[in-house]
Amino acid sequence: MTEKIPVKHIEPGTQDLEVYGNDSLQSGVTKSVALYSSRTKIYVKKIKGFFQGIRRVSLWMLMIMYFAVCWVSINGQQLVHFDLPARKFHLFGITFWPQDFVLLSLALIICAFGLFFITTLFGRVWCGYTCPQTAWTFIFMWIEEKVEGSRNQRMKLDKAASSFDKFRKKAVKHTLWVLVAFGTGLTFVGYFYPIRELVPDILTFNNLGGWTYFWIGFFTIATYLNAGWVREQVCLYMCPYARFQSVMFDPDTLIVSYDQKRGDPRGSRKRNTEHQKQGLGDCVDCGMCVQVCPTGIDIRDGLQYECIGCALCIDACDSIMEKMDYEPGLISYTTEMRLRGKVSHILRSKSVAYAAVLTVMIISFATLIYTRVPLQIDVIKDRGALFQMTGLGQIENSYELKIMNMSDQDHRFSIAVTGLEGIKITTNREVNVASGEILSLPTSVEADPTKMETSNYTIEFLVQAMGDTELSATSESRFLGTPE
Ligand code: SF4
Ligand code: SF4
Repeated sequence: MTEKIPVKHIEPGTQDLEVYGNDSLQSGVTKSVALYSSRTKIYVKKIKGFFQGIRRVSLWMLMIMYFAVCWVSINGQQLVHFDLPARKFHLFGITFWPQDFVLLSLALIICAFGLFFITTLFGRVWCGYTCPQTAWTFIFMWIEEKVEGSRNQRMKLDKAASSFDKFRKKAVKHTLWVLVAFGTGLTFVGYFYPIRELVPDILTFNNLGGWTYFWIGFFTIATYLNAGWVREQVCLYMCPYARFQSVMFDPDTLIVSYDQKRGDPRGSRKRNTEHQKQGLGDCVDCGMCVQVCPTGIDIRDGLQYECIGCALCIDACDSIMEKMDYEPGLISYTTEMRLRGKVSHILRSKSVAYAAVLTVMIISFATLIYTRVPLQIDVIKDRGALFQMTGLGQIENSYELKIMNMSDQDHRFSIAVTGLEGIKITTNREVNVASGEILSLPTSVEADPTKMETSNYTIEFLVQAMGDTELSATSESRFLGTPE
């Protein structure tokens, strides 16, 4: 199915850089575009420049962090370990249990809000500089370039007839891709299964269990396909964030944009010619901005959802501007307001609101983490009998105490009760609770009816680790009886 739509069309050129422009590539050409077309392989040209430098550092750093963090341990405990069988997460020295679900949810909400806040201010910097899909595609492209050569060499190689050299290069590239993908899958599983046990077990073919092999295989295949084959298609067709982030954009959001007033009309020219006299703008129509684009778009067609904000086209165009002795910035990071000739504002109602909410959430999260005690108790009063009289004339109430030891160590805890003169526990007053254990403890409490003035008292249970007074928790309940 096709429809006739006007597009400013440019085929990605393959001409040598010494020739600036191509008269056959004019803007404003009307062309039929298939709404459903098969993928055209994108050969991304390598470019150096300011933004590419930042990008290279951020993407390599993230990759190194991903592969290294799971190997770091504190006091024998892996720094980041999602221990699913034990139902606890170790994150940077703190152990989270299912009871800490609120904290984990808050952390995820903070991450989401942080992303929205950054997107409102700086557009798609997440996509261009830090997204895992971008990072792994970047590494796979780097390998491809090292093995198969530059853009033109890769295009030539793909078009060439089968030969031993072609087979050798393809085999080396795919082997390296598979190795990186396998390392990625292994490391990913290493965040769930202690990596220092996982790697020796894999190397010695120890029986790790079917699921471990399945997930390593799954993430290996997913990485190999996503970063090696599917690439920009993930951003264009699979990533939900690419679709809904436009609602976070406003006229002050940073975008990558071509300065049409300055660049058009486009056309080739010789260096040092007075192009304005020829009626030309600053764009030499070289196609470099298209050749370096990892999603294969032409930014001169305006802002498109395919643009991941990586700024490779900025670096490419600036290098051409430099060669032509023109001012840089024909393609630049700018805002819609600036393009309209107006002043752009960083502080605006949306960004201030995001910043305020984010600040409140971060402070709340930090306070919760700082004041968090890895011990929790629940007291459930026995509903079978309100109270009973003992043979010695005392009033007895029964409870069930649930003591959750969420610390990393086993502890012996003392149990006490307060709230009424002479009230005391007549069952176990000391118990051992292992790390991660939830102990259910039937508990009886007695009080002298002569000391009671009403039939209903609020009492408080105190559970405290012996030898560690900081590790304590309290919980309230009711004590019922008949005063004498
Ligand atoms: S148009 Fe420019 S910024 Fe956008 S994805 Fe392509 S190269 Fe990156
Ligand atoms: S915008 Fe810059 S890189 Fe793109 S075709 Fe024009 S001169 Fe070349």
